Amino acid sequence: MCGIVGYRGKKNAKDVIISCLRMLEYRGYDSSGIAVIENKKIRVIKSVGRIDELDKKLSRYDLSSCTCGIAHTRWATHGKVNEENAHPHHVGRVTLVHNGVIENYKEVEKKLKDYTFKSETDSERICALIDSFYDGNNEIEAINNAISLLKGSYALGILFDGNDKLYGVKKDTPLVLGINTGETFLASDISAFLGYTNEYIVLDDNEIVEIGDNFNIYYNNKPVYKTIEYTDYSIEEAMKNGYEHYMLKEINEQIDISRKLYSKYIHDGEFSDKLIDLSKYKRIDFIGCGSAYNASLIAKYFIDKYCTNVNFYCNCYIASEYRYTNHYFDKDVLAVFVSQSGETADTLASLRMCNSEGIDTVAIVNVLTSTMAREAKYVLPMLAGPEICVATTKGYFSQSYICSLLVLNLMYKTKKIDKEKLLEILEEYKKLPENIEKVINKDYKTVAKAIYKCEDVYYIGRGIDIYSSYEGSLKLKEISYIHSECFGAGELKHGPIALISKDTPVIALLSEFAVSEKTISNIYEAKARGGLIITIRKESINIDKDLSKHDIVVPLTNEFIQNLLIMVACQLLSYEVAKLRKCDIDKPRNLSKSVTVE
Ligand code: GLU
Repeated sequence: MCGIVGYRGKKNAKDVIISCLRMLEYRGYDSSGIAVIENKKIRVIKSVGRIDELDKKLSRYDLSSCTCGIAHTRWATHGKVNEENAHPHHVGRVTLVHNGVIENYKEVEKKLKDYTFKSETDSERICALIDSFYDGNNEIEAINNAISLLKGSYALGILFDGNDKLYGVKKDTPLVLGINTGETFLASDISAFLGYTNEYIVLDDNEIVEIGDNFNIYYNNKPVYKTIEYTDYSIEEAMKNGYEHYMLKEINEQIDISRKLYSKYIHDGEFSDKLIDLSKYKRIDFIGCGSAYNASLIAKYFIDKYCTNVNFYCNCYIASEYRYTNHYFDKDVLAVFVSQSGETADTLASLRMCNSEGIDTVAIVNVLTSTMAREAKYVLPMLAGPEICVATTKGYFSQSYICSLLVLNLMYKTKKIDKEKLLEILEEYKKLPENIEKVINKDYKTVAKAIYKCEDVYYIGRGIDIYSSYEGSLKLKEISYIHSECFGAGELKHGPIALISKDTPVIALLSEFAVSEKTISNIYEAKARGGLIITIRKESINIDKDLSKHDIVVPLTNEFIQNLLIMVACQLLSYEVAKLRKCDIDKPRNLSKSVTVE
């Protein structure tokens, strides 16, 4: 769920590990810990709270001679947040850090009668299990024997007493090796070690890596040889670059990402052949969680509007439901999986279900080293660069951008639009960077000041604005902890209007010209109940001056990307509100960046 780092080299392991661990902070965590090999002995230091707390504790020790160690940021799944439950765990001759969830840990515990446990974690049981198989010589065999009994997900970094090597293994949660001359890293993702190396190897399930002066990888006790890959992500891309928060930096990066996406997927007014042709299928299922689900609704909206007929339709599913419901699958069905990390547990399980049914699968993912990127038949890279803020902004942007291109491509292939129309639409995509910039430069602070003390904020809209409301409202609650809900504007009088009293903020999104008058009537209804009205609208929809207290106007563009401009405004408004409320914007409470548990 959170972060693992391992290092073996010539440098001060503690310093290297802490700098790498900080790069994984975005994954969300509640405690952290480190184990280093000191004169052939293992020293474990842990702390509840931020990595700064751990660092403070570490400054009491002289660890300058240690060149090998493992560390962990924990997002508790088994047992309270306290030092006993924090990792690394040490049992017998084994010290270990674990990300993931062991489903049969109670069963495992029954086999470990000779052990007493200090923590409530599933992880400490793995530690004892490995120890129970360890004969003092065969580390790989002990690890193999232990993992053969585990059910669930794990990424493990392991040290053995009296041995100066570092071991790693994973299943259903990521673990990568960073390779550099004279040093090797182990981490949950490449951003951890980008400050040291751009070369990496992705471990596959149940491959065990043994890191000494060199490293060896084994599967089922036999050596495996893997190619070293190279990433052009830079440490600067993964850092704040002068912005106060990653969230703000990432909102600004949307300008550049829209340029990158354009040049990747559009060549000389034609769609790149990498963009999947949906017209070959009869049913398209989009599957995602949270914002990724919201982004896929954009595809459904336009497919419903322009492409649906008796032989062609689209569904959108929350992954945690999709995998547990019955579906009819045949060669005419395409399943599209949307996930920033490419590791989201429910989405991954749904992808595996579809793969086992033999249907075509596509992953819209950002992390190209991820499991989904490797297991889906086709991959559409999001090109968003490392997203550090737990609440997605640029990730959602990129996903809905790609969704809109998939639909446009479909419309072009099925002759719903001709070349001339397509070129006209694509012109607007070209102008997107400058339009985003205009939206970013607006004033959100004044509106934020008007609403940041409120307990509830409602979003309303019609048509595509309902789907943008889902995401706008989610953003606000995620980072500011204000209760927020969204409704189809027409639904207001069927219940939610009962919630509106004096000064209840109602944020109305207005980008659907065809239904804007209807939405405006609904806004008046909310206003009549005392609602504090905020409108976020496209330039060409005019409203009376007295309609809203605050009015944010975004430039007019083509309908396929109009929602992206509306969303930038929603993101910045949420950001300013959260800032006024002094929230931990990049690391909201209880949330984790990569949701690798179900
Ligand atoms: N299940 C383990 C625990 O609760 C690991 C959680 C994590 O991935 O951080 O300690």
